[in-house]
Amino acid sequence: MKFDIITIFPDLFKGFVSESLLARAQKKKLIKINLHNLRKWTDDNHKTVDGRPYGGGAGMVLKIEPIWKAVQFLKRKAKSVKRKTRTILLSAKGETFTQNDVRRLAKYDQIIFICGRYEGVDERVAKHVADEEISIGNYVLFGGEVPTMVIIETILRLIPGVVAKEESIKNESFSVSVNSKLKTVNSYREHPHYTRPKVFMLGGKKLKVPPVLLSGNHKSIEEWRTKKSR
Ligand code: SAM
Repeated sequence: MKFDIITIFPDLFKGFVSESLLARAQKKKLIKINLHNLRKWTDDNHKTVDGRPYGGGAGMVLKIEPIWKAVQFLKRKAKSVKRKTRTILLSAKGETFTQNDVRRLAKYDQIIFICGRYEGVDERVAKHVADEEISIGNYVLFGGEVPTMVIIETILRLIPGVVAKEESIKNESFSVSVNSKLKTVNSYREHPHYTRPKVFMLGGKKLKVPPVLLSGNHKSIEEWRTKKSR
């Protein structure tokens, strides 16, 4: 899986791409992350990527030209190697991102992210350049860089070989299980977890691990976990 990120602040990703599971996944060649500075696709001396909004108002708006050029460049490369590509514009007013989107997006070979900044992005990018507009929640951030990291992490967990124990992905919150008898599809939150110590003293109170988890009875543990999850 290839991730191409178009941003005016590529350095924001430095730690993200070089630490932890992300670094390992790149080393194992399970994923490739390419950072593209939007200013590369400008042709004036000042490398201008933004302009004042038509109709007036505060803030600056990212221009369509450099974004369109960057996406065309990446799509042409993807087409030459028959890569299935999806272009996402990060936007507070986009569709809210869910685990269903993670499963859907994990099927692509390449995802191109367009990170907005300032007052936002010329609307023609949402309408004519991006395939979809995604919001990671009903709040406003400074830019599309953090939302891009959120989306990459969620997809990464579904790429075979990235998470060491596949089991932990199967029974996770928002994962889907099909009950073929009842013909239903379920999506639950995960059951609670506990680890040592068995008893933790807090302000004179004993915070205990539920006894069933210490019983060694796998059937009872499974039943307790299912009940908690539902
Ligand atoms: N004026 C815009 C509005 O009211 O919807 C907010 C612009 S925001 C300051 C700048 C950029 O941050 C956006 O273009 C978008 O790329 C990104 N952004 C902010 N909040 C976001 C969110 N919740 N989800 C995805 N992207 C977001």
